[in-house]
Amino acid sequence: MSLSSTKSISVQKVEKSRIGQVDFDNLTFGATFSDHMFECDYKDGEWQNPTIKPYGNISISPAAKVFHYGQAVFEGMKAYKDDNGKIWLFRPEQNFLRINKSSKRMAIPEFPREIFFEALEQLVKLDKEWVRPGMGNSLYIRPFAMASQVGVSASPSTEYKFMILMSPAQAYYTGDVRVEIAEHYSRSANGGVGAAKAAGNYGAQFYPTNLAREKGFQQVIWTDASDHKYLEEAGTMNVFFRVNDTLLTAPISDRILDGVTRKSIIALAKNDNIKVEERPVLVSEIVEAAKNGSLKEIFGAGTAAVISPVSAFSYKDTVYEIDKQEDSYAAQFKKELLDIQYNRSEDPFNWRYEII
Ligand SMILES: *Cc1c(COP(=O)(O)O)cnc(C)c1O
Repeated sequence: MSLSSTKSISVQKVEKSRIGQVDFDNLTFGATFSDHMFECDYKDGEWQNPTIKPYGNISISPAAKVFHYGQAVFEGMKAYKDDNGKIWLFRPEQNFLRINKSSKRMAIPEFPREIFFEALEQLVKLDKEWVRPGMGNSLYIRPFAMASQVGVSASPSTEYKFMILMSPAQAYYTGDVRVEIAEHYSRSANGGVGAAKAAGNYGAQFYPTNLAREKGFQQVIWTDASDHKYLEEAGTMNVFFRVNDTLLTAPISDRILDGVTRKSIIALAKNDNIKVEERPVLVSEIVEAAKNGSLKEIFGAGTAAVISPVSAFSYKDTVYEIDKQEDSYAAQFKKELLDIQYNRSEDPFNWRYEII
């Protein structure tokens, strides 16, 4: 291994890239990782020893607090290659701010801005061949932080690890998704951790999602934990409803993840003169809209799949089908977002972040 130090991050490069062994046309999402990863430890009250090293296993005590108390947060972002081979990130500042917001809620120390961006830039540059050209191809970037202190006493860890992994991804087609509106289980509650990208939020969703799958629905639309009256998120995505020509989505609160895709869609919609209402959306009004034909679309929004159209939803054992929309907002926003992400259009909001 060659050792070099650029700025404060020490870099150990792989001797030989694994890229030749990867079948980029048959990737399973999140299963293959690029040559390098980033690792930084929090000890004695500060983040230290930021290192880029070959991707591989890490050694950690089974008594590390993350395994016992779930103190862990993560982010999801992507690097895109344009038609001229330049590489871009999309609104990384949002991910930086959000992981620190999530960390704060989970009593994890915030990560320094300078190291976050320096790590991202160096990692992506080093593994730039892993960002494949072509619309839909990307390098999915997974920053995360976890409690690494040894000890099963129930108190916040005094030591943490912050890491960044990168995984090549193809266009992620969810197909048309059939969803079940939650009537019993909940994803988040007032005062809880729903607004944080906390690892445990996902763990808690798997069981009710499995139950929905057994009934033929791929995802659950989460409702408010108190009365199950309001529609909040679709699986691990934010959710939009188009009633006639108005777009509805739940307002950001401590139950809702403040999605980058969500806020980008809202900005695009306003720019396209589409009426957007960020307000509590009643289950009953969407059921009513489905019955009277004014419900035109439902779609989920998130970095991995960008936009996932919902083709049917179930509520109280009745299934409501949503007819395919000719001039679909979902398709329009997806195209507008991808065009910006892949540098195929102007960037009126300054969302692109150039890496190389
Ligand atoms: C990550 C996430 C989203 C989507 O956020 P993006 O920034 O658009 O990727 C939505 N809901 C939940 C619960 C999430 O964890």
